[in-house]
Amino acid sequence: MTTTYDFDLFVIGGGSGGVRAARMAAARGARVALAEVLGTDGLGGTCVNVGCIPKKLYSYAAHYAESFHESAGFGWEGQAPVLNWATLKANRAQEISRLNGVYLNLLRGSGVTVLNGFAHLESEHAISLATLNADGSPSHQRFTAKHVLLATGGTPHVPHFKGHEHAITSNDIFDLEPFPQRLVVVGGGYIACEFASIFNGLGSQVTQLYRGEQVLRGFDDEVRHFVAAEMLKSGVDLRLNADVLDIQKQTDGLRVELEDGTVLQADAVLYATGRVPNVKDLGLEAVGVAQGKQGAVVVNAQYQTNVPSIYAVGDLTNRVQLTPVALGEAMVVVDALFGPADGKALRQMSYDFIPTAVFTHPNIGTVGFSEEQAREKFGQVRVFRSEFKALKHTLSGSSERTLMKLVVDAQSDRVVGLHMVGAEAGEIVQGFAVAMKAGATKAVFDSTIGIHPTAAEEFVTMREAARD
Ligand code: FAD
Repeated sequence: MTTTYDFDLFVIGGGSGGVRAARMAAARGARVALAEVLGTDGLGGTCVNVGCIPKKLYSYAAHYAESFHESAGFGWEGQAPVLNWATLKANRAQEISRLNGVYLNLLRGSGVTVLNGFAHLESEHAISLATLNADGSPSHQRFTAKHVLLATGGTPHVPHFKGHEHAITSNDIFDLEPFPQRLVVVGGGYIACEFASIFNGLGSQVTQLYRGEQVLRGFDDEVRHFVAAEMLKSGVDLRLNADVLDIQKQTDGLRVELEDGTVLQADAVLYATGRVPNVKDLGLEAVGVAQGKQGAVVVNAQYQTNVPSIYAVGDLTNRVQLTPVALGEAMVVVDALFGPADGKALRQMSYDFIPTAVFTHPNIGTVGFSEEQAREKFGQVRVFRSEFKALKHTLSGSSERTLMKLVVDAQSDRVVGLHMVGAEAGEIVQGFAVAMKAGATKAVFDSTIGIHPTAAEEFVTMREAARD
């Protein structure tokens, strides 16, 4: 390793991609620094602090509401408990701090120099770090590195309209005070749908507004319609082809006027209408790093930018915005720069068959192509589907239904799409994703013995094609 530079690798951003790359590079013997603008409290990035983890914790909290209610059918008697929002927030905050600490220990344990401050590129090998001193005055440090990894993630984007300053984003919702009895959620992506479901479960009266024809664009059409119907049934007032005209602050909350003249009263308006890459003041223009739509950093298959010493991974590159994807990309960079781990092959990242879950109530789990995408790609497809009431709900009194669907390439018999709406869909789909990556055919699914009685067994027992 060269000694000309302060570090072999300087990572900007302590989120999913940055932490993974820093740790793994240090484990290979590289001299690594990682800068995080939020300090040690920000370690873990969006996922740990204001994304996957707190959201899933709140989703668990929300599921208790239906469980308390449904338990009566199983013989449980007594008053259902009420939510103490302050307790939920405090317990979440405590768990997140614990995780921040775990990340710090992992980094320090691997020998990474963890720096607190806003980093920006000065040149292709130099980084400037701005920090605030105890008296509030700024100080700047300069570091050099052989390689720089940009992993600054993304940030919520609220469009400009009259009263936009009264809207909150997913960054604010976890610590909202007081609990929003009336919540308007604007957006139709997975984050909007998840928060609509979660706050509906926690007890808010939720109105979700989406300007398009149906929520969850890009997902299988049947799944989109099915989950929208389930969300409506569970109490989310989902309004399609609807958008906000303006928001006014009044003494008793917010007055939200829609484009069609309808007026809603709300305690909070959550905008989940998209995220943009965190590129502001990063110094990309000065150093000449190529950027695409919304400023996203453009990279090649090894996540190298057009400036050879500078790499970028994760949400900043605006590809597939998921934590496991950022982790996978980080590993490709580490292998490319410092060689693979002992005895392992050089890592490549494949964007095929990335499984994902949406933590709506009920959950969505999906891997591979939607029916529509599969028809376009493979021409002839066979579709197997099953819709049913889960065994649990024969006694619970819930009218929730489950949808399971397989999309098969008719020519090769390969299962190219697997979709589920129902309890624990994310947990169920993960295992099937392995089979699909391995190229499992419908015949392999058919020859697999089911686990009885589960919902998942339905995926290996669907025999009649619903559509050819
Ligand atoms: P981030 O994790 O965003 O990390 C970037 C870090 O860089 C941040 O800590 C930031 O403070 C820091 N930073 C920015 N600029 C600078 C600078 N100039 N100097 C120093 N530090 C800087 N993904 C899933 O897989 N499953 C989910 O269930 C899921 N749920 C989500 C729910 C929500 C509400 C949101 C918003 C996202 C969710 N995601 C989920 C997406 C996931 O969080 C991101 O894909 C992932 O965090 C991206 O990792 P990253 O390393 O690119 O960036």
